[in-house]
Amino acid sequence: MIGLNPQPSTPNPKPQTLNPQPSTLNPQPSTLNPKPSTPNPQPQTSYICAMTRTKTDILVLGSGIAGLTFAIKASRLFPDQQILVLTKTVEGESNTRYAQGGVAAVWDLEKDNFEKHIADTLDAGDGLCKADIVRIVVEEGPERVREIIGWGAQFDKEKDSNDYDLAREGGHSEHRILHYKDLTGWEIQRSLMEEANKYPNITIDEHCFALDLITQHHLGRMVIRVTPGIECYGCYALNKQNGDIDTILARVTVLCTGGAGQVYKSTTNPVIATGDGVAMAYRAKGRVEGMEFIQFHPTSLYNPAGDNPSFLVSEAVRGFGGILKTAEGEEFMQHYDPRLSLAPRDIVARAIDSEMKKRGTECMYLDCRHLNKEDFLVHFPTIYEKCKSIGIDPMKDMIPIVPACHYTCGGVLVDEFGHTSIHRLYAAGECTSTGLHGANRLASNSLLEGLVFAHRVAHDLVGKLEGWEFQEGVPDWNVEGTTDPQEMVLITQGLKELRDIMSYYVGIVRSNVRLKRALDRLFLLYQETEELYKTTTISPQLMELRNLITVAYLITRSASHRRESRGLHFTTDYPEQLPFVEYSVL
Ligand SMILES: Cc1cc2nc3c(=O)[nH]c(=O)nc-3n(C[C@H](O)[C@H](O)[C@H](O)COP(=O)(O)OP(=O)(O)OC[C@H]3O[C@@H](n4cnc5c(N)ncnc54)[C@H](O)[C@@H]3O)c2cc1C
Repeated sequence: MIGLNPQPSTPNPKPQTLNPQPSTLNPQPSTLNPKPSTPNPQPQTSYICAMTRTKTDILVLGSGIAGLTFAIKASRLFPDQQILVLTKTVEGESNTRYAQGGVAAVWDLEKDNFEKHIADTLDAGDGLCKADIVRIVVEEGPERVREIIGWGAQFDKEKDSNDYDLAREGGHSEHRILHYKDLTGWEIQRSLMEEANKYPNITIDEHCFALDLITQHHLGRMVIRVTPGIECYGCYALNKQNGDIDTILARVTVLCTGGAGQVYKSTTNPVIATGDGVAMAYRAKGRVEGMEFIQFHPTSLYNPAGDNPSFLVSEAVRGFGGILKTAEGEEFMQHYDPRLSLAPRDIVARAIDSEMKKRGTECMYLDCRHLNKEDFLVHFPTIYEKCKSIGIDPMKDMIPIVPACHYTCGGVLVDEFGHTSIHRLYAAGECTSTGLHGANRLASNSLLEGLVFAHRVAHDLVGKLEGWEFQEGVPDWNVEGTTDPQEMVLITQGLKELRDIMSYYVGIVRSNVRLKRALDRLFLLYQETEELYKTTTISPQLMELRNLITVAYLITRSASHRRESRGLHFTTDYPEQLPFVEYSVL
């Protein structure tokens, strides 16, 4: 078994001049276009590098639901402290903006209650949820949702009524999903950006790519995973527009960098989802948990022309009456689960995977032809339009679907207040493992988790933040011995190889031999990429490849440790569940 031990950037002992200028304030929220944008149309691959320095009281990495909610809350709690949010493309580009289904919260107290939402979450999590965390998120969730409604987030209401139109999704026993058409994430992202823009102490720096977290390692000390008292002093970040590398010193750093779906060939996650935060935290010797639990969305639109990201056909379509069928129009879910098309995602994804393999087909189908066209258009205008754009009319044709990587359940290990194992480093949102999802995420629980933990992290800082000083003596990023990349193909091909390895060997169905092969291949890729990293000028493409290799390793290693099938992790060598519960922490 290989041991992959990625190191953060090498500390450079040369003292550097400190530039106390804050980074540029960008008070205008970038326009959020409901159509998916191409964040990096012409990736810049080579830079002229200057070293800059910034100080901020609170550093937030990521501008999705977790990052922006945290920034707004922190701004209200600490109006005199500077909050700097880095985002690697534009402010509005995140996993958040693509969320379609909605946010789950107990709302209709006549029919629903906390215990039911808790029971559904625990049921999906297949024994691995942390019960105290589930209760916290479910019970605090409605209040957090009310807050974003207060900030301007809109959710659909029932016809001629002031009551919210609550949807029901797979695994939920009640209607409790607040949604805005099939653009819920877009609406949440829009309202958070508008709200964040109101606070003068929040600065959002776009096109700023966080490279590495700064710890004692950068002061020349030896830091290993068992070193007690590892501290985070901020991060190094690449300004993608001018190539400067900024040493950002902060009293506290909050990771909100989202998921890692881009590690697979087919994913619903946008191209920013490269697991940077998880990889940075692991390189900084932080603890990471539950990475084997990767949720594949059963129904992404199958487009033979290929899409990155794959277009998601929301679970809500099945909640609305869409039925899974074969190409011949026969239902098949009765062979897998009594809940049929509304069974939890992992069961549906495995059923589709198994039917596709059995029949040797590229996709299966979702039949919506029997549904009312007017209602379908009201609820799913984007899905309808996207299908039409590839020649499928959902009212006349069955929609071709295929499973795609959708959600990273594991991540940086945090406790109930978002503390990571590294002092002065917090984390919230999809980059974390809070214990809410266990071995499988219940649909629409993740936006809720982002809101609840962003709030908890902000409040945990009260009484602590002012006591944390800026670290002295942190060197600039070390560029010695690096030159511009001559062979971009090494990076692009490396990425392709990585996705192939993960999709073929560490996908929906796993086995010992596949995982062993994946680890062997990953080790080669890791060695080659580290060599490239040591000799090449830094670029987002190279850093993302490096981060994805680390994430791939964490997924594969955690999967090979788990000698059972549970939740999203299914292995043909250990199809049964063990009678005891074990968490995989690396
Ligand atoms: C298609 C789709 C549909 C979904 N539907 C739902 C749903 O209906 N309900 C639900 O609850 N969940 C849904 N999810 C999941 C949910 O959207 C995410 O889990 C959630 O939005 C994650 O929020 P986040 O703030 O943690 O991360 P994100 O929203 O992904 O934000 C991450 C941020 O980090 C930034 N970043 C990353 N790396 C760096 C770096 N190195 N330097 C600087 N910045 C960086 C990114 O630029 C981005 O701003 C869906 C996800 C997808 C992809």
